[in-house]
Amino acid sequence: MPAQPHAFRRTRIVCTIGPASATPETLDRMIAAGMDIARLNFSHGTHETHSKTLAMIRAASEKAGKPIGVLQDLCGPKIRVGEMPNGAYEIKDGEEVAFFTGAPESKPAGALPCEYEGLAQDVKPGDRVLFDDGTLEARVTAVSGQTVRVLFARGGVLKSRKGMNLPGVNVSAPSVTPKDLNDLEWGLANGVDFVALSFVRHPDDLGPVRSRMAKQEDPPLLISKIEKPEAIERLEAIVEASDGLMVARGDLGVEMDFEKVPPIQKRLIRLANEHDKPVITATQMLESMTANARPTRAEVSDVSNAILDGTDAVMLSGETASGRFPVEAVQAMSTIAREAEGYFLNARLEMTYHPSDARATGLHDALALGVERIARCIEVKAIVVISRSGATARFVASSRPRVPVLALSPVPHALRRMALFWGVTPVASSLHQESSMPLKEAEDAARASGLAEDGDTIVVAVGREGPGAFSGRIHIHRIERDFQSLTMIMRRDGHKA
Ligand code: PEP
Repeated sequence: MPAQPHAFRRTRIVCTIGPASATPETLDRMIAAGMDIARLNFSHGTHETHSKTLAMIRAASEKAGKPIGVLQDLCGPKIRVGEMPNGAYEIKDGEEVAFFTGAPESKPAGALPCEYEGLAQDVKPGDRVLFDDGTLEARVTAVSGQTVRVLFARGGVLKSRKGMNLPGVNVSAPSVTPKDLNDLEWGLANGVDFVALSFVRHPDDLGPVRSRMAKQEDPPLLISKIEKPEAIERLEAIVEASDGLMVARGDLGVEMDFEKVPPIQKRLIRLANEHDKPVITATQMLESMTANARPTRAEVSDVSNAILDGTDAVMLSGETASGRFPVEAVQAMSTIAREAEGYFLNARLEMTYHPSDARATGLHDALALGVERIARCIEVKAIVVISRSGATARFVASSRPRVPVLALSPVPHALRRMALFWGVTPVASSLHQESSMPLKEAEDAARASGLAEDGDTIVVAVGREGPGAFSGRIHIHRIERDFQSLTMIMRRDGHKA
């Protein structure tokens, strides 16, 4: 197993890949700097460009010997303006502008195009319309046929295909669009590890993606992006229906008053932790690094605070997709994360209540809480989990143990998914849960990672739950020739311990 200098940072780093990073050299350097997950943003690009990028990511991952998960971010019903005359149109404060939603050839002279056909049906005079992440602000003054007139309270330069947000408006477009379903086909055919769904409003919104995924063996994990006020009203049900969450602060801070974002971020992270599901905190984390080599102090605090809130992962967007310093942004994320984790783990040691205890129930929770408690009582150098699908690793991650977790699996896509879990280093291995207690392999993995050596203690956990199977084992193991060990066994089926 190659040395992995960044393996023991607990917080995972998600990087959006775009023109600034989609070269083999930059991807190599971003992986070396700490990238764990590569995000492909389907608001941009074609299947052809994404295929090229995906091939580069897989090659760089192979070269580095590090599983890199790939997250396909479906754009959902994002409302956008069309092509502006000469690419950009300057709008003055107090100016009234008409937006036309029909075919370009029937657009009235002077009107600007809007790509969302349902705009005129959904809005009424008085509704707010925000453009380009809220930089330009207007209100609807009149609706007629396919034309919507808006009065700009705050104008600015409106570039082609910039986003439009309609806060408080019940947007009638479905959460999963025909484009999303077509993009999902690409994702499934190309073996992406995570699919993120934008603008989720209701747990039922996940239905079309789930039912398509159900036809696939070992489908990707489904991440709900929380960016609409309607989702906040049904958070619990959405978390239950999802495999993970993204705090999509960009649109969330436009759809809702921006001051509401930090408390919502805390609530979302806690809820995901309670449900043992991974959560990504996203957008503008190191925004100034799109132009500068060093982040602002406020950005450093923001990343650090998301980690103290308990996020599994932090995400870079424009910083790595189109910024000047993609590698430096990953390096900055990594160093901020390591520092914040020290504080987080100390604070957590003093806590009597853990979010993951809230709903602890079942085999995986029992194993996870067991190993976490053991690592509090005994000086343990590593937790080694044998996790074929990644499920045991996910629960162990959620217990936020103070020592690093090595998760051994023979399944490449399971290894790539585990790259999103807090504190987990995926390690390729030929082991199965059915193997007799794999102490030798666990020992080898712990030694090879540099985490443990002769005389050190590791905890090994194996869990299996499924049709006809229910067994879990935890082994406390001292690495030396004549070791003393203690095994806890939970077993209901005929598997040998
Ligand atoms: C966001 O809005 O914060 C987000 C992550 O979504 P996107 O970048 O796709 O707009």
